[in-house]
Amino acid sequence: MELTNESKVIDEARQGEATVVTGENSSGRKLYIESYGCQMNFSDSEIVASVLTDNGFSTTKQMEEADVIFINTCAIRDNAEQRIRGRLKEFRAAKGKNKDLIVGVLGCMAERLKTKLLEEEKIVDIVVGPDAYRDLPNLVAEAETGQKAVNVQLSKEETYADINPVRLNSNGITAFISITRGCDNMCSFCVVPFTRGRERSRKPESIVAEAQELFDNGYREVTLLGQNVDSYLWTGGGLKKENPSKEELENATNFAQLLEKVALVSPDLRVRFSTSHPKDMTDDVLYTMAKYENICNYIHLPVQSGNSRVLEMMNRGYSREWYMDRIEAIRRIIPGCGISTDIITGFCSETNEEHKDTISLMEWVGYDFAYMFKYSERPKTLAQRKYEDDIPEEVKGERLKEVIDLQMKLSDVSNKKDVGHTFKVLVEGTSKRSDEHVFGRNSQNKVIVFPKENYKPGDYVNVLVQDCTPATLLGKAV
Ligand code: SF4
Repeated sequence: MELTNESKVIDEARQGEATVVTGENSSGRKLYIESYGCQMNFSDSEIVASVLTDNGFSTTKQMEEADVIFINTCAIRDNAEQRIRGRLKEFRAAKGKNKDLIVGVLGCMAERLKTKLLEEEKIVDIVVGPDAYRDLPNLVAEAETGQKAVNVQLSKEETYADINPVRLNSNGITAFISITRGCDNMCSFCVVPFTRGRERSRKPESIVAEAQELFDNGYREVTLLGQNVDSYLWTGGGLKKENPSKEELENATNFAQLLEKVALVSPDLRVRFSTSHPKDMTDDVLYTMAKYENICNYIHLPVQSGNSRVLEMMNRGYSREWYMDRIEAIRRIIPGCGISTDIITGFCSETNEEHKDTISLMEWVGYDFAYMFKYSERPKTLAQRKYEDDIPEEVKGERLKEVIDLQMKLSDVSNKKDVGHTFKVLVEGTSKRSDEHVFGRNSQNKVIVFPKENYKPGDYVNVLVQDCTPATLLGKAV
């Protein structure tokens, strides 16, 4: 899963990478938190807010009012970290005004750099990794005595299953539910296994309970989150077992079974999930999606490259042919399913012919949209240790531009195909461009904007698509 992006085809529901916590409900100390990176990080910030509000904090969106500032970080590419360093410089002014202000760095950059971050960024008081958020009240207390506080212990057990997230920046309709933490894949370009640790699945009962509570509180859509949701397997907790026993498997819950359990909460609760992995996605998952109308017909299936030799160097665990077989299975079992992906251009030793394989695969699939990146070498990854980052930056950039231009065309073609068709849309809010219009998404995860009339967030509306842009469908309720 890498959901920070340099160049996706923007649509209305996904803009904005920094989120600010709001809420002025308690008289305790005030917390201000910003989140960057993937949905898993945004979901983790909801856990952090819950841990702190359970310990007497309230939250504020005014940085100037804060007693504690947390920044939840991403380490997926160098520019993601540079952005955080820039933000930390901006926090200096706030610290200048309030010398008791506590500044904490959370998330993947904290886990990757550990105490080195304290040496490099003097303004930082607390450094906390993704598995140590329960320890935050102690670390804040330590920092309030003037000491630097660090906890970057990765866990074999932690899933925060018993912590009730505080919904942040919520529209009150859609919410994330994390189902696994960490990742056991070792894609050679990726830092996630080093910053989020080994894979653990969360107890299914706690996931279903969270979905039920969200539904009872008016939410109408949940997105099940994991670095690789397809390898979800609950066999009683802890690290994922390489070879679970026959008995353990009989009592286990795999991803298809979990999807069904969540879908059965209510037919009015939409279920989405992210991110899938081509090597682990089973037909069982696809048949379960086809069986329940409320499991959305949309799959984010990162391919990264269209060439089998490059995929092998990336240690992705599948070939171009295997990936195409998965796409054919989706088309066969769930006709009309929306499909998006992730693409990396300019990976180590990628030839122009191999790059053309990525282009031809994109054309063959006809993706609805994609997250597209230039290869960014990351410290300690397999690729950094084994391969030379030998593709010149401008060549990486040219290939990225070619991929982006193609995706714009594919998104436009995909949206034009929807004109004249009617889709069931879950209203999420008022359009950013017009108060007379609302927006929502169809099952295929496409944003549709249409006249407001008396519709309100949480309503399901049948909308006839009349026009489109590469990013958005435009229609009217029918
Ligand atoms: S190691 Fe691979 S599967 Fe795991 S998070 Fe990174 S890119 Fe995704």
